[in-house]
Amino acid sequence: MRSDVVPARATVDLAAVRANVAVLVEAAAPAAVLAVVKADGYGHGMLPCAEAALAGGASWLGVATLDEALALRAAGINAPTLAWLLTPGEPLADAITADVDLSISTGWALEEVQVGAREAGRPARIHLKIDTGLSRGGATAAAWPDLVEAAAKAQADGTVHVVGVWSHFVFADAPEHPVTSTQTAAFSDALDAVLRAGLRPELSHLANSAATLTRPDTHFDLVRPGLAVYGLSPVPTTRSAAELGLTPAMTLSARVALVKRVPAGRGVSYGHRYTTMAETTLALVPLGYGDGVPRAASNTVDVLLAGHRRRIAGTVCMDQFVLDVGDDPVCAGDEVLLFGPGSHGEPTAQDWADQLDTISYEIVTRLGRRLPIVYRP
Ligand SMILES: *Cc1c(COP(=O)(O)O)cnc(C)c1O
Repeated sequence: MRSDVVPARATVDLAAVRANVAVLVEAAAPAAVLAVVKADGYGHGMLPCAEAALAGGASWLGVATLDEALALRAAGINAPTLAWLLTPGEPLADAITADVDLSISTGWALEEVQVGAREAGRPARIHLKIDTGLSRGGATAAAWPDLVEAAAKAQADGTVHVVGVWSHFVFADAPEHPVTSTQTAAFSDALDAVLRAGLRPELSHLANSAATLTRPDTHFDLVRPGLAVYGLSPVPTTRSAAELGLTPAMTLSARVALVKRVPAGRGVSYGHRYTTMAETTLALVPLGYGDGVPRAASNTVDVLLAGHRRRIAGTVCMDQFVLDVGDDPVCAGDEVLLFGPGSHGEPTAQDWADQLDTISYEIVTRLGRRLPIVYRP
């Protein structure tokens, strides 16, 4: 279908992705940039965004799962890539053959990676992860000496190459929090232990988007921005995307499917959670929670149609929702902007997040699978 007649779509501006990454590259220098493209590029499409990020100056890619890393390789994207979420029994030999770097937090993973390396006939490239306080991935400080020692042995026997040491912040959106400094100090201690064990990893890395843009003291050799790649502010309470030099890459839009006049007092959508105040025009928008518009947006979130922001009227359904447009001359086929960079007066994903008591990450990442993504080069 021609993109201008697709009923509903996400449009992703790849020039914005490239420009956002260029901003991150400048902020990070002399540290290098790993662009995080997990979860289908935060909903923006992993492959086009990975290519745009590399074109914008990123030298590494980061993903959560092995599947994501292997999909990059299958598409011919061969930039250094780190995958950081392993569970037992995954095809590590395939990852090693595909030159995917693996994060190791614990003994079983190191053992599996050594088995995989023997199968692949080459050493696995690994990044040892220290838990500096998030209590999510990573080895605790107590477990760190054993993991480091085991990794040094594995490197000596040729099954692994310890490429990196890394960790992740607790206050992803508040890098000025004192815990950020505590974590940075714990990270430096963990790094010292690695050096004392005789390992010489080329890379240490800790910073996410927020720390990349606001905490140069946490940059080490490589930074790992995700959200900012897509142009959303990682510190929305203190600085907007525009203030950070970022441009939101995604616009969610649809074309009105139906308009009709109804009298005052008419209940609208499931459960009649909205009632018309006067005779009015209702406009039907062909997007619902099946496409990633949260049901919690019912009667809560504003969208742009015919030059005005209008609140969603009543319940968001699986495939559609309704707007009350009053007496405005709205026609079937008119464009509704749900969120975007804000350049046409539309709300941003951050506005949606504020209205829905969540974070912009969730708004863009949760788009439904049936929704087409149209790329602007
Ligand atoms: C998702 C993720 C990132 C990117 O975080 P942003 O806040 O989106 O910049 C970095 N590192 C790890 C380990 C992650 O899981």
